[in-house]
Amino acid sequence: MTDAYRSAEADSAEEQTTPRRLATSIRDLSKYYELKTETVKALRGVSFDVPEGDYVAIMGPSGSGKSTLLQLLGCLDKPTRGSLMLGDDDVASMSDDQLADIRSRRIGFVFQSYNLIQQLTVVENIQVPLFYQGIIGAKERARSIELAERVGLGDRLSHRPSQLSGGQQQRVAIARSLMNDPYFVLADEATGNLDSVTTEEILSIFDALNEEGRTIIMVTHEDDVAMRAKRIVRLKDGKLDSDEQNDPAARQAARKVQRANVEQLIKEGVR
Ligand code: ADP
Ligand code: MG
Repeated sequence: MTDAYRSAEADSAEEQTTPRRLATSIRDLSKYYELKTETVKALRGVSFDVPEGDYVAIMGPSGSGKSTLLQLLGCLDKPTRGSLMLGDDDVASMSDDQLADIRSRRIGFVFQSYNLIQQLTVVENIQVPLFYQGIIGAKERARSIELAERVGLGDRLSHRPSQLSGGQQQRVAIARSLMNDPYFVLADEATGNLDSVTTEEILSIFDALNEEGRTIIMVTHEDDVAMRAKRIVRLKDGKLDSDEQNDPAARQAARKVQRANVEQLIKEGVR
């Protein structure tokens, strides 16, 4: 384990001698899209590890391969080359059925557009990851309610998405992403559609989840959102451009400034 893989907060003697388990290990990962007239090399040999409990922001210009990387991590697609471990599962060599199974059991997704099912209530949307396994008993129902409460929607359990604000819908999506005890939460521009106040609410939930030990991997093009993560991985032209830890003090400062800005906005009556 190198320093780059150690969380800035991991300063106890035990953490320095015991390597942390990896949520994912990415080695020489490539993804080519074969079109009729050309091959698009969306990822060209990317390698990095994400230890459990990390909080990674993936950045890079449009077209640099961020969404492609997230799709591979989310088992929505297969790499052309390279190895991709999720925990102890080698997903690069899995069949489509095995990938679908892993995806439904161990991956939590939060999309920019929420992707909720309009006909279902808040609680039912949170349970969606279980539909594939067909096991929704008292225990699962209790957990979905607990997750709704966890994201501050305890009083909206029977609402449908159309009756919720964007921020509330995104909170449903976060609760849904946790239903299956995922390897990590994958977020693709999760705050891209939200105003500053709502963005802060969502980022505070991510902060709290990460402090509880959840691994978070999010794509963002906003510097102030990326500053909330522990680490920034930058892609460029399908390759790793840089991989740096956020300075813990700068990270805390960014959090404070952003919260103060939002408090000011609320005072001014934005809500
Ligand atoms: P980013 O999310 O960083 O904007 P993407 O991963 O979406 O980048 O795209 C990387 C490159 O791969 C782009 O050139 C894009 O046009 C191409 N690409 C992405 N998805 C597909 C696809 N399904 N078929 C063909 N080309 C694709
Ligand atoms: Mg993208």
